[in-house]
Amino acid sequence: MHMKYGVDEHGYYGDFGGAYIPEMLYPNIEALRAQYLKVLNDNDFKAEYDQLLKDYVGRPSPLYHAKRYSEKYGANIFFKREDLNHTGSHKINNAIGQILLAERLGKKRIIAETGAGQHGVATATVCALKGLECVVYMGEIDMERQAPNVARMKMLGAKVVPATSGSKTLKDATNEALRDWIGNPEDTHYIIGSAVGPYPYPEMVAKFQSIISFEAKKQLLEQTGSELPQYVLACVGGGSNAIGMFYNFLDDESVKLIAVEAAGKGVETGHSAATTSLGKEGVLHGTRTILMQTEDGQVVEPYSISAGLDYPGIGPQHAHLYKVNRAEYVSATDDEALNAGLLACQLEGIIPAIESAHALAHLEKMTFKLGDNVVICLSGRGDKDLDTYIKHFGY
Ligand SMILES: *Cc1c(COP(=O)(O)O)cnc(C)c1O
Repeated sequence: MHMKYGVDEHGYYGDFGGAYIPEMLYPNIEALRAQYLKVLNDNDFKAEYDQLLKDYVGRPSPLYHAKRYSEKYGANIFFKREDLNHTGSHKINNAIGQILLAERLGKKRIIAETGAGQHGVATATVCALKGLECVVYMGEIDMERQAPNVARMKMLGAKVVPATSGSKTLKDATNEALRDWIGNPEDTHYIIGSAVGPYPYPEMVAKFQSIISFEAKKQLLEQTGSELPQYVLACVGGGSNAIGMFYNFLDDESVKLIAVEAAGKGVETGHSAATTSLGKEGVLHGTRTILMQTEDGQVVEPYSISAGLDYPGIGPQHAHLYKVNRAEYVSATDDEALNAGLLACQLEGIIPAIESAHALAHLEKMTFKLGDNVVICLSGRGDKDLDTYIKHFGY
């Protein structure tokens, strides 16, 4: 469908994408590539996916016209409420899709990586739903700062394995999960949580998350009389909520797409995850993309206060959208995001995930024309981040 911005028959988005994998992973990836489209287009799969999204996840997620935000910023501001999904974020859309795929591929064991713990919780949830064994890799530092999500995963029956190398965060957990998959190619499916990794993962995850913009278009038409807004904003870690929010707007060139990365303590401080500002082209976790790296190609340790954005790369489709200027990539610091999160509490009665608060923070830097319609993906809720908010604001 999206010839210009979509994937080609070799798994590339312009210069980015592909599958850069060790030989031992080749059969897994090849089997996925050969089968996933057939499964996704199968009527039985579609019916079960739609039904679970409706009755289990609670979709469609509302498109909420935030009136006090609209007054403050002088535009019609809408929140796409992925925070209201079962398990608290957009991650469940992809987890449901992939567990149904794994089931149809005859897999008995599921592995996943997680940063904030949202993808781990979503994966543990769908494994419980289907009675499948679940192992989640999580950076040791993330396990500390997201303790409630670790407990949740354990309650749901998952085994949580700490990743103790490198920065002990998301990229290290991803390395561990890939290692596990190499060792267990036959019975195991790896549910990647973002639009990253070797082809076909970025494409598959984008398809599962595209429900966000599919619904948003219909809801905009109902509420504003036009399915096209002037601006669409989303935060970017690996890029799954953003690509889901952008997906059905990609070919509508009048719609400005804005992706907000985590600047951490500031882009130039050495404590940042602002990938497009700091990164160069290279290979990360099996895909050619833009990533933060040293002159000699070592991955730079990212930093963000939000575990979900603490990733040194972006998905290959985002790298492409950045390079061809279809979407604008900006960043917000920890402090800007925390303040934006508090504002959402006080103006709208919504405690957003700190990840999502990065997207909200960018509103401060924009200027609008009267009547502009703006959609922001509220990718998740802030329950998991209460400790961080409390520590920062001293409640
Ligand atoms: C994981 C997560 C993100 C970042 O991941 P993407 O793949 O970039 O969407 C953003 N928001 C929330 C709430 C998350 O849990």
